[in-house]
Amino acid sequence: MNSETTYLRSYTLKKEQIPPVISEDIDDYERESLKKKIKELLDQQEAVIVSHYYTDSDLQILADETGGCVSDSLDMARFGNQSSAKTLIVCGVRFMGETAKILNPEKRILMPDMDANCSLDLGCPEDEFSKFCDENPEHVVVVYANTSAAVKARADWMVTSGSAVDVINYLKKKNKKIIWAPDKYLGEYVQKKSGAEMLIWQGSCIVHEEFKGKELASLRKNHPDAKVLVHPESPSSVIEQADMVGSTTEIIRAFGDMNAKKFIVATDKGIFHKMKELANNKIIMEAPTAGKGATCTSCAHCPWMAMNSLKKLLHVLKTGENEIFVEDQIISSAKNSIEKLLKFTSNNQSIGLANDA
Ligand code: SF4
Repeated sequence: MNSETTYLRSYTLKKEQIPPVISEDIDDYERESLKKKIKELLDQQEAVIVSHYYTDSDLQILADETGGCVSDSLDMARFGNQSSAKTLIVCGVRFMGETAKILNPEKRILMPDMDANCSLDLGCPEDEFSKFCDENPEHVVVVYANTSAAVKARADWMVTSGSAVDVINYLKKKNKKIIWAPDKYLGEYVQKKSGAEMLIWQGSCIVHEEFKGKELASLRKNHPDAKVLVHPESPSSVIEQADMVGSTTEIIRAFGDMNAKKFIVATDKGIFHKMKELANNKIIMEAPTAGKGATCTSCAHCPWMAMNSLKKLLHVLKTGENEIFVEDQIISSAKNSIEKLLKFTSNNQSIGLANDA
C-alpha cells in the first residue's frame, strides 16, 4: 500500500442484496415471435434499444438489428444523445438508465427491470458518501461511472475505467488530494499508476472480484501462448498478470488487434458475444473464478445484467412501465461532473473516449 493512500471501511453487500443469475428460457419459435412484436412496437413508438455488452446476446442482436447500439455505459449515453428516437430502452443496470436521463432529459428512458442494479452503486449510498466528502472538504471528489445520479451530483468529476488514470494524473499535477469512489480495485490500480494521494472508498464489483490470481497463474502455465485481457475492477493479483488492462471497449479492441489465437478474459462473459462477432477464429477462455473461496456469485456473469430479457423488454414497450426519472436539481449537478470528463477527453486525444464499467 502506498503510504499516501487511505482506505475507508469495507462495503460488502449482504447475501440477500445479491440476486441469483437467472436466464430467460425460451425456444427459437418464442424468441422470433418476441423479437417480431418488439420490432413493431419500437417502430410505432420511435424507440431504440441501447444495450450494454454484458447483457444477453438476444438483446445485443436485437439492438444491432433495429438500429440501436451495443456498447459501454458512456457510449450508450452518447448514442442516446445523438439519436433522434423519442424513447430509449436501456438494457443494462440502473446507473446506465440514470446517466441516459441526465444526458437526455427530454427523452423517455425505459428499462426492462428496475431492480437491475450494480454492487458498486449499492455499495456507495449517497448520504454516507456525501457526509464523508463534507468531512474532507480539501479533496477533489472523483467517482466512477458505476454510481447513482445522486452520487454523481455530489462529485466534482465522473470518470470511466479508460479515462481514470489520465484524469487522476491531471489532478495530481495540480497537487490535488483525491477522494475516489466506489471501486477499491480500480482505485488501487489508478493509485499505483499515478502515485496520487487518494482516499479510496471500499466498494467492489461482485463479478470481477471473484477472479482468482493463483488459479489464473495455473491456467497461464497450461496455455503459455494465451494473452490475458483484464478489466481493472479485478483484484490486483489478476491485474498483475495481464497483457492488457482496460475497459470493455478496450478489451474487445485488443482481442481483435492482438496477434494471438488464444485469450484468457477477466470480465463478465456477456462480452464474449461481441468478441466472437469480431474474430470467430480466436479462442476465448474465461479467467478462473472457482478455487478457494468460490461462492454462488463465481460465474463471471452479473446477476443484475441478467435481469434484462426479451420478455421484459416487450412488457415495458407495451405498458410504458419502468420509466427512469431523475430530479432536475440532481440532473444539473450530475451533468457537471459528467461533462467535465467529456470536455477533458475531447481536449486530450491520448484518452480513449468510449470506456466504462
Ligand atoms: S458487472 Fe459488476 S460493475 Fe458491472 S453492473 Fe454488474 S456488479 Fe456492477
